[in-house]
Amino acid sequence: MRKPQKAGGGSQRRGEQPSPDTGPGTPSQASPYHLFSDADEVTSFRASLLSWYDRAKRDLPWRRRAAGELDPDRRAYSVWVSEIMLQQTQVATVTGYYTRWMQKWPALQDLAGASLEEVNQLWAGLGYYSRGRRLQEGARKVMEELGGHIPRTADMLQKLLPGVGRYTAGAIASIAFGQVTGVVDGNVTRVLCRVRAIGADPGSPLVTQHLWSLAQQLVDPARPGDFNQAAMELGATVCTPRGPLCPKCPVRGFCQAQKRVEKEQAVASRRLLGSPEQGQTLDVEECAPGRTGSCPLCPPPSEPWHQDLGVANFPRQPARKAPREQRAVVCVLQQLGSETGRFLLVQRPSSGLLAGLWEFPSVPAEGTESVQRQALVKALRTWVSSPLPLRSLRYLGEVVHIFSHIRQTYVVYGLVLEEQPQGLPLSGARWVSRAEFQAAAVPTAMKKVLQLFEGRPSGLGKASKGSQDPATSGPGLGRRRRQLTLSAFLKPTSAP
Ligand code: SF4
Ligand code: ZN
Repeated sequence: MRKPQKAGGGSQRRGEQPSPDTGPGTPSQASPYHLFSDADEVTSFRASLLSWYDRAKRDLPWRRRAAGELDPDRRAYSVWVSEIMLQQTQVATVTGYYTRWMQKWPALQDLAGASLEEVNQLWAGLGYYSRGRRLQEGARKVMEELGGHIPRTADMLQKLLPGVGRYTAGAIASIAFGQVTGVVDGNVTRVLCRVRAIGADPGSPLVTQHLWSLAQQLVDPARPGDFNQAAMELGATVCTPRGPLCPKCPVRGFCQAQKRVEKEQAVASRRLLGSPEQGQTLDVEECAPGRTGSCPLCPPPSEPWHQDLGVANFPRQPARKAPREQRAVVCVLQQLGSETGRFLLVQRPSSGLLAGLWEFPSVPAEGTESVQRQALVKALRTWVSSPLPLRSLRYLGEVVHIFSHIRQTYVVYGLVLEEQPQGLPLSGARWVSRAEFQAAAVPTAMKKVLQLFEGRPSGLGKASKGSQDPATSGPGLGRRRRQLTLSAFLKPTSAP
C-alpha cells in the first residue's frame, strides 16, 4: 500500500539523495505526462516560482549572510555550513546553531584551526555528529591543499570536499557561485513528483535520474541559486508532506497531481450520483506509456488511489528498512564528594558512529547477564586503576535510542564510589562534574542514561527487570544514594 510522507519533515533536508550521474540536459524517453516538453511552459514555471519566492521567502540567517557577503569563499563557506546543518534537521533547530557557529568560526580558516572537541561541543544536540567532523575536515583541506579557495563548480566540490554529495555541491555552486545547476533534495523530490505525477519509488535509480534531469531543465539560467532555493522553499512551506496548501501554490496551474485529484473527485461524485461514467470522463491529460503498456514513472498498477490523501498520493513512500538491533552494557560510575559527584567518561574512537564523543564506559552486550557484567567490570578496570567495589554494581534498567539505521539498547548499571580513586584515569578517560557532563560533547543517548541513573524518566527507557528492592534495582539509585549506608552498597545483588 502506498503511504504518504511523514508530516513535519517539510522544513528539513533529507540529506543527500542517491545520484546517478546523468549530466545536464533534458529528460528523454519518459511519457510527456512526466515531462516539461514545452519551452514556454518551462519559462512560465520559473517565473511563477521566482516571483512567489521574492514575495514569500523566509528571512533566514544563512540567506542574509550569503546575500551580503562579497568575498566568494566566505559566501560559499556560509552556504556550505547551512547546507550541512540542514541535512536531517529542522530549520527552526538549525537557526541557533548556525548563528553560534558563525560567531565562533566566521571564516574557513577559523574552523580549520578549531579542535574536533570544540566542533563536537558546538554540534552537541544537533545529531549526526559526523557532519560537523567532515565540515571541519573540509575546511582544513581547503586551507592546506586548495590555497584557501573553495572549489567553484558542483563537480569539483563533490569531488574534493568530504561530506559534500551531489545535492550539497549543487546548492553551494548555484547559491554562492551562480552555476546553472539544478538540485534535488527531499523537498524538491516531493514538489517534482507532484508537479509531474511521478508515483514510482522516488528512491529508485530511474526516478532519481528523472528528477535530476527535470531539475536541470527547470533551473533558471539567470537566477540559479534563487530558483533552487525557491523550489526547496515551496516544498518546505507550501507543498508539505501532508496538508499541502494547493490553493496558495504558485505552480498549481502546472501540477499534474492537482489535476489528478480533480479528476478523481469528479469520478467519485458521478458514482455517488449514480451517473454513468462512460463517455463522461474529464478532459485531463493522462500518462500514455506507449506500446509497453506500463510506465516506470507511474505508480505500480497494484497501488490503489487513496481519495483521502489527495495530492499526497505523490510521491510514493519508499519501504523503509528495519533498523539494525544493537545492545551494549553501560556503567554510570559516580564518585561522591562534591554536591553532584563526578562521573567517569571515556572517549569513543575517532572514526565510526559518534566518533570522538564522550560517553559512559560500555561494552557490547554479548552472552549471558553474568558474562556481560564480567566484561563490563573488566572494561572498568582498564579505565580506573584503584580498587572498585564491584559487588555494588547495580542494574538500573534499559535505555533505547534510535540512530538513523540502528536501534541501540543500553543495559544500564550504576556504581557509586564513596572514596576518590587513586591516580588519574588513563588517557582517553576523565572525571567530569554534572555541569561539565551537560556541556560536554556527549551523545543524547548518554543523557538519557544519566536520567535513568538519577531516577528521572527518560521517556524512552524502561526498567524491565531486576528485583523489587528499591536499593538494588530500577531507577532512583542516584537520588537515593545518600540515604544508603556503605554496607548497603556492599550488599551484593549478584556477584560480577
Ligand atoms: Fe504541491 Fe499542491 Fe502546488 Fe501541486 S498544487 S505543487 S501538490 S502545493
Ligand atoms: Zn507514467
